[in-house]
Parts: sequence; structure tokens; C-alpha cells
Amino acid sequence: METKIAIVGAGASGLLAAKKLSESADMHVKLFEKGKQVGAKLRASGGGRANILNTDIRPCHYNRPDFMERLLARIGYAEVRDEFAAMGLRMSIDEEGRVYPATLYAPTVVNVLLEQLGSRVEVRCETPVRTLRQEDSRWRINDEPELFDRVILASGSPAGMIVKNQRGYNDYLTDLQIKRNPLIPSLTGFRMMAYPKLLFGCRVRANVRLLQHGRPVFEEFGEVIFKEDGISGIVVLNCSAHFNRLASKEDCEVSIDLLTGDGDTQSDRQLREHGSLSGILHPKLCELYAQQPFDLRDFRLKIAGTYGIESAQVCSGGICTEELTDRFELKRYPGLYAIGEMVDVDGVCGGYNLFFAFASALAATAGRGFYA
Ligand SMILES: Cc1cc2nc3c(=O)[nH]c(=O)nc-3n(C[C@H](O)[C@H](O)[C@H](O)COP(=O)(O)OP(=O)(O)OC[C@H]3O[C@@H](n4cnc5c(N)ncnc54)[C@H](O)[C@@H]3O)c2cc1C
Repeated sequence: METKIAIVGAGASGLLAAKKLSESADMHVKLFEKGKQVGAKLRASGGGRANILNTDIRPCHYNRPDFMERLLARIGYAEVRDEFAAMGLRMSIDEEGRVYPATLYAPTVVNVLLEQLGSRVEVRCETPVRTLRQEDSRWRINDEPELFDRVILASGSPAGMIVKNQRGYNDYLTDLQIKRNPLIPSLTGFRMMAYPKLLFGCRVRANVRLLQHGRPVFEEFGEVIFKEDGISGIVVLNCSAHFNRLASKEDCEVSIDLLTGDGDTQSDRQLREHGSLSGILHPKLCELYAQQPFDLRDFRLKIAGTYGIESAQVCSGGICTEELTDRFELKRYPGLYAIGEMVDVDGVCGGYNLFFAFASALAATAGRGFYA
């Protein structure tokens, strides 16, 4: 007999789950998507290039390392890469291990997934799931006439969405009383206190440290982008993921080493020999230094907070991992699965979040765990 499966959300995780289930002849899958098109966030990811994976996926890159350790023991970088390679997706890897489609065009990933769905998957766009009820051991979605044997929840998070679209997000979960941690924006820039506005528009490559009470919490090298009232860039987004994990946000600041890689005395020598820093610093930083000299190896900015969910790449929070089995099935609701960003697992910037979306889809649909 045919097994009827509903998937809520046609994003990165929902599309891959649908593809995997469509490989089995006895499955019929209905993919419910509230948006006009499938994979909207995936199409916009990585600045339109989709950084889908990273060659260095380890538990320490995530907020739930224990949970990730168990997942990675079964599904790691190679498994997800091979899955996409088997679909015909050519990939390219940059110097930092970030994996992109070789076209460097995010919609390629969506197209490859869509081409694989086949006739056993029915995609229903502009069909938001508003209610999900259990009737005996099966599931009813909205007022659909049919009941589903299994339901995969893959409806993501409101990260990166404009404010009006965030309201009521994932409300269909409320009646199920699944334990969820509050949603907090992650991978977002910092708003700063007493910020020198003249730096707006400046970009530097520097070593950046997140400090609390003057002690280092996290450190990374990368590009810092100075905005109107704060800073952004991959390295700053990663600092924000660590900032979000702090129990208290008190007395946090960022220290930027503007002379990363140079000798300690470079700025002194430059000043002595050339009478100016113009040859080694961005003009806006030179202007700031001229107004009031500061330590170029330890340029400090106090954190006022992060930018909101609308400018975040992911959310921290969501369905607690303790609610799930290792196969992403809800322990209290056999037959109901939750995958992707709606689970309280978030990673740093660099392909880690799409990896989790894809790996969780593979784990939930793998072998007998799903079909039994
Ligand atoms: C601007 C931006 C850039 C990013 N870049 C990267 C990157 O380069 N690399 C990386 O690893 N991560 C990146 N991310 C994060 C990554 O895109 C997400 O973590 C990933 O898409 C999550 O996949 P998902 O399937 O869980 O959710 P999504 O891809 O968000 O899919 C969820 C789907 O569910 C639908 N939905 C929601 N509610 C309902 C409902 N009630 N009924 C029906 N459908 C519903 C939504 O419309 C959506 O299509 C980026 C995020 C943003 C915002």
C-alpha cells in the first residue's frame, strides 16, 4: 500500500527530503509551500551563489555539538557532497573550504533538486500549513480530505525575512506543544555604542576578537565591513553566533587588529619614515586616527546589540533537540519529523547551515527508520 507523506516547507531541507522519498515506489509525497516559489531562501543564499557546504564540518561549528556529533557519525560532508554529485551538480571549493555550485549561481541548486522530484511528489505552492492535527495515528493538514501517514516539518525560521512576514511564523506548531527555545537572530552584524560614523563604507581584512569583560571569547580573521551604526562581514557574523551563545551579554566588545600580519612596530615605522599612515590604512581609518590616535592592533568597539532577525542569516532557537530521536522523529509524536532550521541547531557562517538542512533531511529519510 502507498504511504502518504506530507512535507511542510519547500526550502533546502524539504526539497531534499522530497527527492529522497520520491526514490521509493511506494511513497506519495505532498510538499506544502506557503510562498509563491520553492526554495526562496536557498536562491538568495551566499549572496546569490549558495555556499552549500564546507569541507571542514565539525561539531564545534554548531551551538549543539553533542547532537551534531551523533549526526556527523552517520552523515558528514562526504555523504551530502556525494548526494548532490549524484544529481549532476558540479561544485567548486574556495581556499577556505567553502563549497558552491560551479555555476556560482544559487538557483542551480534549486533546479537540480526540482528536476529530481519525479511524479510521486506533488508540489503545492501558496498553500500555507495553518493547522496540523493527529487523528488516531495519522495526520490531518488544514482541511485536506486525506490523512497522512507521516509528516516532515521543514518550515525553517523567519531569519532574513521582512518584519511583516515574520508574524505568526510556525504557528501551526502551537497546539502540538513541542518544546521550543526562543528564536534569537544569529549570524548578523553588531550595532556599536559610541560608533565613529565616519567609518561608514570602509572595508578591511583584519583579525577580530570578541571579548567579554576584556577576556577573549572567539577570534577569527576576515573582512570587516563598517556600516552606518555598526559592523558586519563573515568574521563579524561568526562573532555574533558566539555572542548569542553567551548566558549574559554584559560588557562585550570587539577588538580589531588593523595591522594583522604586520610587525608590531609597522605603524610607528610608517609614521617615522613617511609621516602618515596612508600607505597602510584605509583613508577613513587614517582620518579617525588623525582626530584621535588609537591602538591600531586593538581597535575596540563596544557592542550595543545585534541587528534584528530581518538581517540575520539564521535563527538560534526552535524545536529543542531533546524532543528528537537521532532520526529527527519527535519522540512524543511517532510519524512526525522536524528537520532543518526549525530545529534548534545553528552553525557559523560558511556553508554550515545549509549542510545541516541537507544532512537532517538525509537522516530523517534514511532507510528503515523512515519506512518502518
Ligand atoms: C540572506 C541569507 C543568506 C544565506 N546564505 C547561506 C549560505 O551561503 N550558506 C549556508 O549554509 N546558509 C545560508 N543561509 C542560511 C540557510 O539559507 C538556511 O539555514 C536554510 O535555508 C534552512 O533551510 P530550511 O529548509 O530549514 O528552511 P528554508 O530554506 O527557509 O525553507 C523553509 C520553507 O518553508 C516554508 N514555510 C514556512 N512556513 C510554512 C507553512 N506554515 N506552510 C508551508 N510552508 C511554510 C517557507 O516559505 C520556506 O520556503 C542564508 C540565509 C539567508 C537569510
